[in-house]
Amino acid sequence: MSSSPPANAPSLDNYWMPFTANRQFKATPRLLAEANGMYYTTTDGREVLDGCAGLWCVNAGHGRPAIIEAVSRQLQVMDYAPSFQMGHPIAFDFAEQLAAMAPGGPAAGLDRIFFANSGSEAVDSALKIALAYQHAIGQGTRTRLIGRERGYHGSGFGGISVGGLVNNRRAFPLLPGADHMRHTHDLEKNAFSKGLPEHGAELADDLEGLVALHGAETIAAVIVEPVAGGGGVLLPPKGYLERLSEICTRHGILLIFDEVITGFGRLGSAFAVDYFGVVPDIVTTAKGLTNGCFPMGAIFASRKVHDALMQGPEEQIELFHGYTYSGHPAGCAAGIATIEIHRQEGLLTRGSELADQWQDALHSLAESPHIIDIRTIGMMAAIELAPRPDAPGARGYELFVDCFEHGLMTRMTGDIIALSPPLIISPDQIDRIVTTISDALKHIT
Ligand code: PLP
Repeated sequence: MSSSPPANAPSLDNYWMPFTANRQFKATPRLLAEANGMYYTTTDGREVLDGCAGLWCVNAGHGRPAIIEAVSRQLQVMDYAPSFQMGHPIAFDFAEQLAAMAPGGPAAGLDRIFFANSGSEAVDSALKIALAYQHAIGQGTRTRLIGRERGYHGSGFGGISVGGLVNNRRAFPLLPGADHMRHTHDLEKNAFSKGLPEHGAELADDLEGLVALHGAETIAAVIVEPVAGGGGVLLPPKGYLERLSEICTRHGILLIFDEVITGFGRLGSAFAVDYFGVVPDIVTTAKGLTNGCFPMGAIFASRKVHDALMQGPEEQIELFHGYTYSGHPAGCAAGIATIEIHRQEGLLTRGSELADQWQDALHSLAESPHIIDIRTIGMMAAIELAPRPDAPGARGYELFVDCFEHGLMTRMTGDIIALSPPLIISPDQIDRIVTTISDALKHIT
């Protein structure tokens, strides 16, 4: 069953869809027409529970009037204003409000905010800021960027160079010098862990290996997702992030946390920095920043990094980087309204109240067919299926389609089904997610 387009629907031919099997999709489309609260409605009128907050972004649920009104009001007052050698108060206001809730609190000093328009741009901006920082402090030989296998940092050339998903990389030339640590996913030792996996903190020592191989004086920065999302919800083993941070500090390497998914309440704290108590030099965010209502990203840079670049003649541009839409007034309006909703409804910490129920509900599927691992943290989860030997990814796709047909939107990465519902989810809706998946597991082969 697909959600068939209405009689007068446009042709599906022209839109070349991103990260989509276009021909397969267009033969059996899944078309969404409306969204409200926890639900989408398909073009043929079926209600679909949003198990993914759209694409990990609609953390406060769909159709929030306060955001809609704020964006609409801003577009009427001033639709657009440039941010190159000009400014508009709402961008400064938004930056100030973000700084007040910055990852790690005031002590971390991550309160210098640079705006981009997506997670990919936030990542590329952070990588460039890291390189510019090293250059500015006289460490210009540090040009190497280190990521991790199975990491996802968006689809820009910087992001795919440090990213570790082979399908996103194989057709494209990459930044010279990028290298990778191993990922932390160890099914043999850590499958069905509750809480953080016990085994694997020593994998952070891969960075020591790369320092030994390349020389610390060539490495500018390491970027990791504190919890890898797009690669299949891979949790950091206990002590891993602490060890990585310590190695970075010891070798003068900047640490970047890509919090495009984990930022804004996903783990039950405002940021993963707060959840893990590990403070990097730069944090990238997007998605939940505007509740998915406006394409926007924000980089939280430490004062150390920012101030190192505020040198030289005052009339000189300090960072030759930015976007036409950096600090877009409507995006800032959406972001400020989102912060207010989070504050009023306690959404940044609601995940911590639901996390135990979420974990227990997901782990109740452990004995279901095909499952080889279940992982949860805050309000993220992954269900990993045994791949069919002849067709890796096929089982995951079938589960994803079956769930959708039975009214649940999930996200699939190969044979891993990922979940990250809006943080307004009710306990009943958590049960419905699990029941739908349990039934779907019986339907697939
Ligand atoms: N970084 C991470 C950790 C992400 O999960 C994503 C998107 O899923 C991105 C970067 C890229 O964000 P965008 O798709 O907004 O460019």
